[in-house]
Amino acid sequence: MNKVDHIGVAVHSIEDVLPFYTETLTFRCLHIEEVPSENIRVAFIEAGNVKIELLEPLNPSSTIAKFLDKRGQGVHHVAFNVDDIQTRINELKENGVQMINNQPKIGAGGAEVAFLHPKSGHGVLYELCEKKEKDND
Ligand code: ZN
Repeated sequence: MNKVDHIGVAVHSIEDVLPFYTETLTFRCLHIEEVPSENIRVAFIEAGNVKIELLEPLNPSSTIAKFLDKRGQGVHHVAFNVDDIQTRINELKENGVQMINNQPKIGAGGAEVAFLHPKSGHGVLYELCEKKEKDND
């Protein structure tokens, strides 16, 4: 694991919470995009050397909609930047970690991502994230 890449935060509406991040906390919004495979819209906020990923459900079948129903708004996951994601997944599995995704899938920004099961993360949903284009940081 190289570093924490971002912290995912579930929100009802990016539009409603964005001024808190950009005006009150004075962070910069890097970009907003839809991730159709997950039925979500995401906004990436640059917060020092980690990003905050705001996750808004596009429809009730989204896992984020279900999370909001059950838990309300709040921290959803923590993502680690990795190289060679499939090798990391295989190593974790060899060490007894239960994965939600045994193979990476394409997430926001075209990154390859895979989630660890929160049972293996001791209550935290961790994501592995491999960028195809490296950040400038
Ligand atoms: Zn994420």
